[in-house]
Amino acid sequence: MTEHEIHSVLGIGFGPANLSLAVTLEELGYTGRSRFVERAADFQWQDEQLIDGADIQNNPFRDLTMPRNTGSAYTFVNYLASQGRLTDYLHLNAKFPLRREYAGYLRWVADSFRDAVDYGRSATRLTVADTADGEVFRLETDDGREYLGETVVIGTGRSPRIPPVFRRSLGPTVFHATRYLSSLRRLRGRALRVAVVGGSQSAIEIVLDLLGRDDVAQVVSVQRGIGFRLKDTSPYSRRVFLPEFIDYFYPLPAETKRRIRAELRSINYAACDQDVIDRLATVQHEYALKGSDRLRLMPFSEVSEVAPHGSGGVHRLVVRDVNNDTRSVYDADVVVLATGFRDFGLGPDDEPYHPLLADVADRLALTEEGIPAVARDYSVPVARRAYGSRPLRLYLNGLCEASHGMGDAGALAVLSARSTDIAESLMPEPEGVLGPDGVLGSDRALQPDRTPDRVLGSGALVPDHGIGDIGDLGDLVVDEALR
Ligand SMILES: Cc1cc2nc3c(=O)[nH]c(=O)nc-3n(C[C@H](O)[C@H](O)[C@H](O)COP(=O)(O)OP(=O)(O)OC[C@H]3O[C@@H](n4cnc5c(N)ncnc54)[C@H](O)[C@@H]3O)c2cc1C
Repeated sequence: MTEHEIHSVLGIGFGPANLSLAVTLEELGYTGRSRFVERAADFQWQDEQLIDGADIQNNPFRDLTMPRNTGSAYTFVNYLASQGRLTDYLHLNAKFPLRREYAGYLRWVADSFRDAVDYGRSATRLTVADTADGEVFRLETDDGREYLGETVVIGTGRSPRIPPVFRRSLGPTVFHATRYLSSLRRLRGRALRVAVVGGSQSAIEIVLDLLGRDDVAQVVSVQRGIGFRLKDTSPYSRRVFLPEFIDYFYPLPAETKRRIRAELRSINYAACDQDVIDRLATVQHEYALKGSDRLRLMPFSEVSEVAPHGSGGVHRLVVRDVNNDTRSVYDADVVVLATGFRDFGLGPDDEPYHPLLADVADRLALTEEGIPAVARDYSVPVARRAYGSRPLRLYLNGLCEASHGMGDAGALAVLSARSTDIAESLMPEPEGVLGPDGVLGSDRALQPDRTPDRVLGSGALVPDHGIGDIGDLGDLVVDEALR
């Protein structure tokens, strides 16, 4: 069924990123019609890892809106007050709130936008459709619906990273951490030997959670490095989460960006907080005192083969010592892949672009490296083939780690600043005011869109200024329709 209404903003996914955008659009007085399509049946935030005792890893005051609008109705502080828990929370003197508490905050805000969200619907295909008034995006969902929108904002989060060796084994007993709690619920009651792959914060939280369960016989932690490493929480390193850093990082050459990201990786990836490392080290010591092998750590190791073993659903893992190239075998009933998420880029584990962009990829502006070029305001210029009064705009909300720096995909602290950048770029210029391109706001509808001179497949080149230049498209325009 196609909805004939053309939405001004069509958001895909309604996690914290697009939720923050909904808040910002409302608070900035955006008058367009926004609609969001969300796969989950109701609002949730990483509910597959809502593990007892787990806390968030960012200052809760840098919430969906507070850095921009301290007087907002949608702050974390206001949430606590509205629940009668502000004093209790402050009295606790916790460094960070429990993840459960923060998920409650996000759900509370999301409740105010219920009318703007279609839950339980997964976006499956994005194309461009012609209307009497120019082109619009058409979004198809898994239940056969179709939505039309002038602007699409993709806020789906990234795809789980599944190391190739596990791809054929994925199923009820080999799964990514994003399916942890529901998968485990289905396996309840068996004495499970569980292998947890990875050295991330998620990995250590899952190891600790498993050790607290009666039906888990043994937990083996397999990781390539020396063991769970401490996250870099220096306030100097954490500057990557400041808006100023995004301004500094964005115009840098791609190679420099890659180097900085590699240098700063332990701020957010393959590293853990001190509290969980201390807890695990204590548990490990206690097992050693008891002579128990319930917890086994396999550092400097990677799983090189996985195969079914016997008829009881056991997975035989061949584990390779990455330094000595020796091999050992471990039989597991369950394998949890705490192996992180895929970035967008050209690295071996990367995706070139979000899978939903497959059918519009030939219209997108590209960087010199051949991946979609994201402007500073998180938009990706889209080539148009027919003109009317409607814009045709695409934004990536929370998928721009490679172009905008660490934390873009995995940090709540940047949400408010990023949604402000996107929302401001969506706001119409006031009547009679000249935009940065010298066009009067009131005349903009009459102008062809500014389209970059290189789209996938067109063969033209982006000038030699690097991706930062895409933010200012004024000089680059070769309009497809005018060629
Ligand atoms: C366990 C865990 C804990 C974390 N804790 C923190 C923390 O404490 N602090 C921090 O700063 N960051 C944390 N992060 C990083 C995390 O990525 C961000 O907190 C935040 O979730 C990013 O928001 P998002 O909206 O971009 O993505 P998501 O939270 O992943 O939300 C995306 C939404 O899009 C929906 N969706 C996906 N595909 C489709 C589709 N095709 N159609 C419709 N809907 C779709 C999903 O159902 C989901 O609801 C954590 C991550 C994990 C995995």
